[in-house]
Amino acid sequence: MKYLLVFAVIVVGFWFWRQGRAVDRDAKASARREVKPLPAPTVMVACLHCGTHLPEVDAVRGKQGAYCCEDHRRLREGQAG
Ligand SMILES: [Zn+2]
Repeated sequence: MKYLLVFAVIVVGFWFWRQGRAVDRDAKASARREVKPLPAPTVMVACLHCGTHLPEVDAVRGKQGAYCCEDHRRLREGQAG
């Protein structure tokens, strides 16, 4: 009876091991299938006044470069422009 229990534990353990391997193989297969193109990288720029990094699309363009906000552009480049 004791050996039967040991045998049952081995069988269950082997079954779980097989299940794990099957799941692992499926995960790898689906990972290969679902290759999505990477999104375009966001270009980051640093504010010339305070050095804050922000996406280029959100930056305020000045004559000398990019700024995080209109106030910093004005402080750096003056009212004109
Ligand atoms: Zn700034």
